[in-house]
Amino acid sequence: MRFVDGRVLPIRKIVCVARNYRSHAAEMGAAVPEAPVFFLKPATAVIHDGETIVLPPQSEDVQVETELAVILTGGGKDVPESEAMRLVGGYAVFFDITARDLQAAAKKAGLPWTASKGFDTFAPIGDAVPVTAILDPATLHITLHVNGQVRQDAPTSDMVFGVPRLIHSASHIMRLEEGDILATGTPSGVCTITAGDSLDATIPGLPRLHSRVTRTSG
Ligand code: MG
Repeated sequence: MRFVDGRVLPIRKIVCVARNYRSHAAEMGAAVPEAPVFFLKPATAVIHDGETIVLPPQSEDVQVETELAVILTGGGKDVPESEAMRLVGGYAVFFDITARDLQAAAKKAGLPWTASKGFDTFAPIGDAVPVTAILDPATLHITLHVNGQVRQDAPTSDMVFGVPRLIHSASHIMRLEEGDILATGTPSGVCTITAGDSLDATIPGLPRLHSRVTRTSG
């Protein structure tokens, strides 16, 4: 994990949350969960700003979800919501790249999402700003341009569960550690990406995240 101030932190695990924006739950035809629903991405899926997303041959429908990533520089288990922000060391722009066809098939069969979320290059992340650069993660705005066209454009205030609640709930399942990334979910406007696409995501106050898309040959 690269910080704008030059610090580099090894990434441990990537904790993601499903359906954490009302608008995205609605576009997926799904109800808003009563408690946060988590899944994991492997750290091997991470690429950095300017690097290339590789579409895997197993999928015909890979989609991009733009998210606010919370970078943890502290850890803990069973963290009270009132103390959760102590774990936060920074913020970055994140793409939760998803093989939607594989995910839909897994959902239908009651199988895990690991394949649909876990391919190499499926976790692009921008450089992080320190936590002090952002007054309140609930007052940010996420925008995604694909080939120059706006596809996602939403305030983080539309999150169902805010950052302290997500940290609190995740830490009641698994110990959180320095180097963990918490991806806080995506607003509506998720869209299919194809080889040659150019993705640009912005959250004011954070470095932008740019990715290109290619397909594996053979
Ligand atoms: Mg997501």
